[in-house]
Amino acid sequence: MSNVLIIGAGGVGQVVTHKCAQRRDVFTEITLASRTKAKCDAIAAQLGGSIKTAQVDADNVPELVALIKQVQPKLVINVALPYQDLTIMDACLETGVDYLDTANYEPLDTAKFEYSWQWAYQDRFKQAGLMALLGSGFDPGVTNVYTALAVKKYLDVIEELDIIDANAGSHGQPFATNFNPEINIREVTATCRHWENGQFVESPALSTKRVFDFPEGIGPMNCYRLYHEEMESIVKHIPTIKKAQFWMTFSDNYLKHLEVLQNVGMTRIDEVEFNGQKIVPIQFLKALLPDPGSLGPLTKGKTCIGVIARGLKDGKRKQVYIYNICDHEACYKEVQSQAISYTTGVPAVVGAIMMLTKQWHAAGVWNMEQFDPELFLEVLGPMGLPTVVVDGGEWPEL
Ligand code: NDP
Repeated sequence: MSNVLIIGAGGVGQVVTHKCAQRRDVFTEITLASRTKAKCDAIAAQLGGSIKTAQVDADNVPELVALIKQVQPKLVINVALPYQDLTIMDACLETGVDYLDTANYEPLDTAKFEYSWQWAYQDRFKQAGLMALLGSGFDPGVTNVYTALAVKKYLDVIEELDIIDANAGSHGQPFATNFNPEINIREVTATCRHWENGQFVESPALSTKRVFDFPEGIGPMNCYRLYHEEMESIVKHIPTIKKAQFWMTFSDNYLKHLEVLQNVGMTRIDEVEFNGQKIVPIQFLKALLPDPGSLGPLTKGKTCIGVIARGLKDGKRKQVYIYNICDHEACYKEVQSQAISYTTGVPAVVGAIMMLTKQWHAAGVWNMEQFDPELFLEVLGPMGLPTVVVDGGEWPEL
């Protein structure tokens, strides 16, 4: 039915390609393009060579335009890095093709997480009759959809939202990140912001900690409050929310390494002079750390990502907890990737299915909470990420 172009052959790109290949009813032709073509070819080989591959520098709009004209896709799935969002959106506009990504644009030299740059494309996409779906991963992505589900089905008014992301998996390495180390460390070390009474309130990075008792045998884990991009779009589109917070689990060991790396300047994102050459310390650090892709066969345990929404139902205060549990080893068995890449890649493919089957389709730039959540979740479960809803119950305030 549709020809798709996937850009980015990293951890997430691998899952997206495998999952598109499982749904040939929708994705009749698949092309995977990235900076390093050998990585695309390795993924194609896992799939018996049933997809096409190409080389592209996604920072370069004319190169992207030439590739899109050659491939002629109905949709571009961008799972390269957040730095490439705007160039790929520009190329989609120039060639008249729909666009989907999993992370908001970030300038290379500032760790600034906001949708302003991409929302500025609203009029251009509308006028061209094209659609851009932003943040179709897990968080952002499924967490936005879960929030929309809480509003649609379980609460009359949503007032508070806690998004909680637990990785209870272990890879046995002294220090490694589960997705691109540069993107991960920029996010974790950024000043924290949460939404309270109509504004974002700042606090130092990793300064607020809670213990949350996760379901399905995972048990209590330390969670730290972080800024996460989906809060910006969710509080804009669902304005009854008075308080929104994002929590992520980190082990003491991860935090110990991170603190030392930060203290010695290895997480800096500005250029420094080294032996007559300019280097960016965090990019050098990325080159030293284990490739997240190599963690696939080593990682055991589960992830639990979800939202607790609190508000009013029939005039009474009520809460609902909506989450997914995903098992690292089961993911590796299916698509040769761990659960972090899997939980991002599968929703990207479901978002693509929503767009290509026109179940979610409108001209303009959209976030995930703006469409019908039930249509999305009906496809997400059978694709590997089932949803659990605990309607009511007494979850502690975070
Ligand atoms: P990786 O670093 O594993 O992969 C990124 C890929 O993009 C690599 O293949 C890389 O090429 C390619 N790439 C980088 N720059 C360019 C360029 N200029 N032109 C062409 N290709 C390029 O990252 P992940 O797979 O872990 O993450 C992919 C995306 O998913 C990121 O944007 C990340 O923020 C997002 N994400 C979203 C999550 C969510 O839940 N919403 C969670 C986790 C990740 P090369 O191989 O040559 O380096």
